[in-house]
Amino acid sequence: MSQPIRILPNHLVNQIAAGEVVERPASIVKELIENSLDAGARRIELDIEQGGIKRVRVRDDGRGIPPDQLALALARHATSKVAELQDLEAVATLGFRGEALPSIASVSRLRLISRTHEESRAWEVAVGVDGTLEAPRPAAHPPGTSVEVRDLFFNVPARRKFLRTEKTEFSHLEQVVRRIALVSPEVAFHLRHNGRTQFDLPPATDAHGHLDRLARLLGETFAEQALDLDAVAVQLRLWGWVVRPAFSRSQADQQFFYVNGRMVRDKLVSHAVRQAFNDVLHHGRQPAYVLFLELPARLVDCNVHPAKHEVRFREGRQVHDFIFRTLHRRLTDGVLGRAPLDLT
Ligand code: ADP
Ligand code: MG
Repeated sequence: MSQPIRILPNHLVNQIAAGEVVERPASIVKELIENSLDAGARRIELDIEQGGIKRVRVRDDGRGIPPDQLALALARHATSKVAELQDLEAVATLGFRGEALPSIASVSRLRLISRTHEESRAWEVAVGVDGTLEAPRPAAHPPGTSVEVRDLFFNVPARRKFLRTEKTEFSHLEQVVRRIALVSPEVAFHLRHNGRTQFDLPPATDAHGHLDRLARLLGETFAEQALDLDAVAVQLRLWGWVVRPAFSRSQADQQFFYVNGRMVRDKLVSHAVRQAFNDVLHHGRQPAYVLFLELPARLVDCNVHPAKHEVRFREGRQVHDFIFRTLHRRLTDGVLGRAPLDLT
């Protein structure tokens, strides 16, 4: 006999949502860093233990959360970033679903500590094992926010089984931090694993500093062999660096493409990039690049995938051709750097 229909308890709804957003420690780090960036952080410190399975702590110096809103930050569909449908049409922040914190909290032990710049002390809230919030209590913390996530999937053994070794989980996590650090050169990042500093990146203020960050994160060869490019067409701009084909790689491990500051793995984009490299790369070699596509927010829909890897372009064909033409020209026109290229 079938069971009666009923509305699922909140905690369970969050755990189901966590299935989409929280796959492993790396996904948590992605959500937390994006929140820090949305809060205007200039410095983000990550303290990781045991690949992030034991502990992830992200601390920022962003605008903080007022004490009376701490509990709301942990509630489902609660966000300060989107207020009406119109906002969804042109999302300017990295987050907007209001799902990350409650989802993460439902499958871990989460503590949130925050202090706004107006507040003289910080406040802390912790989520109990049954999803209930404990009353906020005063805490010590400079202006900004720390989120600590311990014992990932301690209450969902079926998911915990899918976690890999500490080393593998950390390498996924590090890759996420790298991805975000590449697109946020003005923000300082400090990543520590089991007490050891992995990297400590100073903020970059110009293109030179940005390239220096590329060198630190991707190696000297990348920075030395990179061709810079910057091209515009109607409402589109593509800029960044592609490594000279002769220094292509055996693995696709240095391919970073961002759309309006968001790293994407999109079919249309990959296709355009692959086509551009087709003539200049030897069989089996992989291009290396860090590329930024910028276009008006209303011409791209990011609300396609919960983890937001895919995007949908209003003018897909135009975007595809622009990426292809820009890269193709840059790769075939010799090795000289150049002023912005107008492909209008
Ligand atoms: P979203 O980012 O989609 O809005 P989240 O669940 O990630 O949803 O966060 C909920 C809300 O909590 C955010 O909208 C923001 O107001 C607040 N918040 C989360 N992290 C931070 C942070 N590091 N600094 C300031 N505010 C934060
Ligand atoms: Mg968020």
